[in-house]
Amino acid sequence: MAVTLHELADLVGRPVDLERGGGYAARPAEPGLRYATALVALLPRPTLDADPMTCMRRGLTWLARVGQQLRPDNAGRSCCWLHAGDWHQASRLAIAMAAEARGRGLDDYDTAAYALAQAEAGAFGAGWQLEAAASLFGEPVRAAGGYMAGRHRVKAMLDAGVRRTLVVRWDQRDPGSRWHERPDPSRRR
Ligand SMILES: [Zn+2]
Repeated sequence: MAVTLHELADLVGRPVDLERGGGYAARPAEPGLRYATALVALLPRPTLDADPMTCMRRGLTWLARVGQQLRPDNAGRSCCWLHAGDWHQASRLAIAMAAEARGRGLDDYDTAAYALAQAEAGAFGAGWQLEAAASLFGEPVRAAGGYMAGRHRVKAMLDAGVRRTLVVRWDQRDPGSRWHERPDPSRRR
């Protein structure tokens, strides 16, 4: 079952424009956005100790994290939407879609639109799996030190023992990047 653009916009929380029509304008400059895979067990600890959801507060220790990696869980749980499905499968789908976009020579900035169009065409399946995989493009996991986005999803992936997932990073060190002239205060001596 394919979802409509309207449903996709609901999933990602904003209008989804898959066209590069006459009104297309270059996106505002951001320092080198890149999709990357990350080892979930090595992502920062989600700060969820005061989360209203009990399932988000439990199992945040490194010991729990190791145990979860040793006992992967594909079944999902009934406590909440975030735990309700198979993040192993959703992560694999998202990683494969990002790799496909790169293989087609797409800029990383165009990857989300490509992936969401593929999602609409049914590439992510339907239901929970579609929402979960599409969320990794619509609201990508951004973790550098702390979380800018995705800590609840990462917690659910940690609980499921997911090995790798799709994240976005900002690469400001690549001398070939078109953003390289933008100063990075963290690298200033
Ligand atoms: Zn839950």
